[in-house]
Amino acid sequence: MSAPEIIRDPSEWQRRCREARDAGRRIAIVPTMGFLHEGHLSLMREARRRADEGAGQGLSLATIFVNPSQFGPNEDLSRYPRDLDGDLRRCTEVRVDWVLAPDSPWRIYPAGYQTWVEVGEVSRGLCGDRRPGHFRGVATVVAKLFHLSSPHVALFGEKDWQQLQVIRAMVRDLDFGIEVVGMPIVREPDGLAMSSRTAYLSPEERRRALSLSRGLQEAQERAAAGERDPAALAAGAVRRLEEAGARVDYVEVVHPETLRPVERAEPGSRMLAAAWLGGTRLIDNVRLP
Ligand code: AMP
Repeated sequence: MSAPEIIRDPSEWQRRCREARDAGRRIAIVPTMGFLHEGHLSLMREARRRADEGAGQGLSLATIFVNPSQFGPNEDLSRYPRDLDGDLRRCTEVRVDWVLAPDSPWRIYPAGYQTWVEVGEVSRGLCGDRRPGHFRGVATVVAKLFHLSSPHVALFGEKDWQQLQVIRAMVRDLDFGIEVVGMPIVREPDGLAMSSRTAYLSPEERRRALSLSRGLQEAQERAAAGERDPAALAAGAVRRLEEAGARVDYVEVVHPETLRPVERAEPGSRMLAAAWLGGTRLIDNVRLP
């Protein structure tokens, strides 16, 4: 297995990607902030598969960039976990061809940078309300990575459900002509959704964190048994989180695409939750049956 080629300079990356596309290669991309785990790798395996579906030699791309513009002033930007060597080993395992890893935020946001992508309704509510400016930062960096990489297909995890809807809306509204693929949440054996941020948790917080996936799973079971009241479903999950000593940020039942709160939980409605375990904020979501 050969290690991916690591490219630091976005202009060089752009030139290489354009040449590859012009040469008829099918390009698939997975944007990440690094500290890769099985969730990221599942996206990269699917990117490899989809890139290789083309006629020419496929090109599987990953980007590793801790994007400052999607962090609020009091968030965890400075302590966000990083491990580029480990990430490159993992990218090798899943046969990523090239990795864009800008060595400084200035590579992406040079002096004088002033252009932002603002997605409307789906950016509001849920994480959009709790993290002002977050989705503006996400949409902007993803738009930029798309322009730099000219991919045919881009893969994102359903773990960040609202983010996935924001990107779908942006790609649709701005005619990017890129296929956006949402991939299922990869979980730890006990059910906790994998996240780079679980690295922050103490063993005690890690145990308590299980209340997040458990609470959502319980709501799924109650919905399967006929409970249709969103408030009742959410209240159960809130109770479980609070009993575990987590601080609830939100628990809501929403329409899966518009993200508007629903009056009645229907099959396909989505239950999204965010909660704090000590100083760590975790998110998760499930489809209601
Ligand atoms: P991040 O590095 O956290 O920005 O995540 C990069 C991509 O990986 C995003 O599309 C995430 O939704 C996705 N991702 C993160 N964790 C998981 C997971 N547990 N299962 C599936 N996808 C994930």
